[in-house]
This record gives sequence, structure tokens and C-alpha cells, in this order.
Amino acid sequence: MAGADYMAWVNLIWGTDMGDTRHTRVLIIGSGPAGYTAAIYAARAMVEPLLIQGIQPGGQLTITTEVENWPGDTEVQGPDLMVRMESHARAMGAEVISDHVSALDLSRRPFTATADSGTTYTADAVILATGAQARWLGLPSEEKFKGFGVSACATCDGFFYRGKEVVVIGGGNTAVEEALFLTNFATKVTLIHRRDELRAEKVLQHRLFHHPKVEIVWDHIVEEVLGTEDPLGVTGARVMNVKSGELRKIACDGFFVAIGHAPASELVADQLELHHGKYVKVTPGSTHTSVPGVFAAGDLTDHIYRQAVTSAGMGCMAALDAERWLAEQPS
Ligand code: FAD
Ligand code: NAP
Repeated sequence: MAGADYMAWVNLIWGTDMGDTRHTRVLIIGSGPAGYTAAIYAARAMVEPLLIQGIQPGGQLTITTEVENWPGDTEVQGPDLMVRMESHARAMGAEVISDHVSALDLSRRPFTATADSGTTYTADAVILATGAQARWLGLPSEEKFKGFGVSACATCDGFFYRGKEVVVIGGGNTAVEEALFLTNFATKVTLIHRRDELRAEKVLQHRLFHHPKVEIVWDHIVEEVLGTEDPLGVTGARVMNVKSGELRKIACDGFFVAIGHAPASELVADQLELHHGKYVKVTPGSTHTSVPGVFAAGDLTDHIYRQAVTSAGMGCMAALDAERWLAEQPS
């Protein structure tokens, strides 16, 4: 039997393709605070949501340590908080699936998501909660040493720099938190920032400025990550003073990039209206995107706040918006 005929036969017999096809009323893509909160609310609204976790179950908070601004917890470990959110979503009746969406078709309803497992998910409504991913400087030398001294996750890789010297690039909350975290292992942490003031919260700045292992190099950008070929490894960074143009070398064994995150909008970039480059646009005061039945929440849509609690809030809004939108559709 020819391939096409065989597929037609399979479809006739099973009413499905070779890979599984699953239908759900609400498909939630992403398992950060936005996705899990959407799942909790959608499950309690009895729309039986199905949530696909993606390759980072729990999202960005799984790569940090202490979270001190989640209401109700003076201090909670990021990974623990996300495990609790997942349990909460499951306990409310959401189905949580370990899979990754590789393609999404929003051109017709039901919407179709193709996943790495081979399963095709169809959905009456979709909540996008794919969050954000680390940004890189874009230097060829950074690319060359990724995984060999260059990292964007201190929580994941800090342990390897026990007794060594590291640099952290950036001036936001992430850079300062990463720098402070790295002081647990490294003998010296140098924060390199392109301006002469940080944008991190004042409480974090205070901790950084008073830490004996930390040095701050203001007004410098990185020209090149320096290292050895055999074995491949980082030995330093060549930096330039943006005011004087002067070049100098800073010795280090680890090079941590913490210059922010970009929204993970690749799945929908050519299907939905975006704003500020790559963020998914929603109608102000709601989570409705430019395609009816598709909702967006969390860092994917938010270029301003980008917090766990705001993402969770938007996840709640998305579930409520989806539920109301579904109720308005003719059956
Ligand atoms: P994310 O947490 O980014 O989660 C996105 C999810 O989408 C992931 O589960 C991923 O697997 C999934 N996904 C992506 N693409 C696909 C796909 N194609 N298919 C299926 N799934 C997909 N905020 C605070 O409020 N307090 C803090 O202390 C704090 N600390 C932070 C520390 C660090 C190091 C970082 C990086 C961020 C920190 N933040 C903090 C910010 C906070 O983590 C984010 O605002 C929040 O996680 C955003 O939630 P989200 O649900 O929008 O997306
Ligand atoms: P961010 O706030 O966007 O800060 C990025 C930093 O990197 C800025 O200081 C920026 O410099 C610098 N930068 C950007 N591009 C650069 C480049 N090409 N070269 C050199 N430096 C560059 O990102 P973030 O720190 O990852 O934080 C993201 C969001 O998560 C924020 O909303 C933050 O509040 C939140 N977050 C919260 C916590 C917390 O609450 N404890 C912890 C982590 C993150 P400029 O300052 O010059 O622009």
C-alpha cells in the first residue's frame, strides 16, 4: 500500500493520524506562573484544560533560588514554588502534559498544536503562556564558549566555579541576584555594567554594594570573551570603557550573561499582532490577542512588569477570558 493510501486507511479505521490526536476545550501552552494559574482557574471553571509544559517545566523561576516577593511567602525557593503550582493545577483537575509544541496553527478553529511527541492537540481556545528566554550578547566568542565557561544560569552552573573568579554582565534584578548567588562559590564576582547605575531593585543593590567579594565595573561593555582552545575554557573578558574607549582585560573562569529575557513568541510571530518587537499584543485590560479564541498571559505579552505575581495574575485573566469567550460561542 502506498504511503498516502496507508495514511488514509489509518485515518478511516482510527479516525486519527498515526500520531495521537487529542482535543481539548482549552489548551494552555507553558508551565510558568501564568500557565499554571490559568490551569487552576480553567479547571475550576470545569472546562477541563490541558496544559503542555514545554522544555522548562515550571518556567523561569526554576532557575533561581530565593523568591522574596511572592505574596504569602517571606522566602520561597523558586523551584519549590513551581512544584507547588503544578500540584495545585493537577489537584484542581487540570491535565498537565510533558511535551513541547513545535508548531501552532491559529488560522482556523479548532486550533491545532503539533508537539514533539508526535501528538496533535486541537483546541477550541488557546492560552499562550510561553514566557521568555535568556538573551545573549551576540558575540562570536560568547557562542564559542557556551557551556565551556559561558552561561546564562548561575543557579544551574554556579557550583562549577567554587574557588574561582567569575564575571556577571548586566545591571537588572537578574544580574544582581546572579552575582550575589555566585558569591556562595566564587572567590571574586565582578559585575560588568554598561552604565553607571543599576536598574535592579534598591534592596538588591544594597546587598551587592556591601558584599566583600563583589567588584563592580561601571560603564563597560564586553568586546570579547577570552579563553583557551584545548581544553576549551574561559580565561577572561576584554572590556571597553564606553566613555573613554579604553580597553582592558578582566581575568575570570566563568562568564555569566544576565542581560534580560526575550519573549518566546516564535510559535505565533507571523500569526498574531506583536508589540515592542516580539511581545504578543493583547487588548488593554484583557488577555485577548488579535485572533479571537487565542489569549496570552505573562512575560510573553508583558514588556514592563515581568514578575511571577503579574504573570500569575494574567494567567487568571486569560482563563476567565477564555471561559467567557467559549460560553459566547454557538454550540
Ligand atoms: P515562564 O516562567 O517564562 O514560563 C514559560 C513556560 O513556557 C515554560 O514552562 C516553558 O517550558 C514553556 N514553553 C515555552 N515555549 C513552549 C512551547 N513551544 N511549547 C510548550 N511550552 C513552552 N519574578 C519575581 O516575581 N520574583 C523573583 O524573585 C524573580 N526571580 C527571577 C530570577 C530569574 C533568574 C529569572 C530569569 C526571572 C525571575 N523572575 C522573578 C521573573 C519571573 O520568573 C517571570 O516573570 C515569570 O516566570 C514569568 O512567568 P510566565 O508564566 O510568563 O513564563
Ligand atoms: P532587565 O530588567 O531587562 O535588565 C537587563 C539588564 O541588562 C539591564 O541592566 C541592561 O542594561 C542590561 N543589558 C541589556 N542588554 C545588554 C547588552 N547587550 N549588553 C550589556 N548589557 C545589557 O532584565 P532582568 O534583570 O533579567 O529582569 C527581567 C524581569 O524579571 C524584570 O522585570 C525583573 O524585575 C524581573 N526579575 C525580578 C526579580 C525579583 O523580583 N527579585 C529577579 C529577577 C528578575 P540597561 O540597564 O543599561 O538597560
